[in-house]
Amino acid sequence: MATYVITGAASGIGAASRRILESGGHTVIGIDLAHTDVTADLSTPGGRAAAADAVSEASGGIVDGLVCCAGLGSLSHVPGGTLVAVNYFGAVELVTALKPALERAGGASVVVISSSSTTTQPGIPENLVTACLDGDETEAVRIGDEVTAIPAYPASKLALAWWIRREAVRPEWIGNGIRLNAIAPGMIDTPMTSGDDLDPELAKALDFYPVPLGRRGRPDEIAALVEFLLGPGSTLFCGSVVFADGGTDALLRQQDW
Ligand code: NAD
Repeated sequence: MATYVITGAASGIGAASRRILESGGHTVIGIDLAHTDVTADLSTPGGRAAAADAVSEASGGIVDGLVCCAGLGSLSHVPGGTLVAVNYFGAVELVTALKPALERAGGASVVVISSSSTTTQPGIPENLVTACLDGDETEAVRIGDEVTAIPAYPASKLALAWWIRREAVRPEWIGNGIRLNAIAPGMIDTPMTSGDDLDPELAKALDFYPVPLGRRGRPDEIAALVEFLLGPGSTLFCGSVVFADGGTDALLRQQDW
């Protein structure tokens, strides 16, 4: 049985991933702001370092898989810079900090949660994506605050997907048996899309979001994909960004062939 680490484990997709992995007999170490094993604020470098230290201690220094679910949505009243700090830097810095523990597992898997907004939302600020991929958190937070959360969200998730694709093929990751992949969910029914703290006007707009399947996704449907990407059935996946969105991306990006 494996030891997996999940950020954002207290809610939504992270909590559903925890349930499915624990029901398979695996050990899960959760990280979140509250209500899980490791309490840490992934919006700050100090919080990320503290989370990595706590995980190393709890896991005995061997981690078979890491799932980065912690994130802030664009529909609540959060500053764009804080959103970028959690969604992008909170993921890539933790993945990097846990690399030694992932290496020791031999054949580890990392899954980050990107978003289908990366291909369906217009007007993504490219300078924000670039600042993230350059590792310049100060500049990325500055741009995020300037543009606000709605465009900062897909920018943070696009940068995360590109970071996965860039790093996955480098010898320091795949050469050490660590597979890096991303999931790009469409609209999933969690507190991020139906919580009490959402801007009511923006939340109403979600009812018009086009989903050919005819409904929002469920957290357990993304958790099933997380389980697959962590497990032995997915060993050929390296640098993939897997869309699970009920058809939204296919609908909105039709080609006239
Ligand atoms: P959620 O709000 O239910 O869960 C997010 C979790 O992240 C919460 O438990 C929260 O406490 C935690 N978190 C937030 N800030 C944190 C911080 N500073 N430090 C540590 N933990 C923090 O939302 P969800 O829908 O389950 O989202 C999970 C991931 O999926 C997010 O990255 C989100 O962007 C992504 N996603 C969600 C949807 C959707 O429609 N729900 C779609 C695409 C992508």
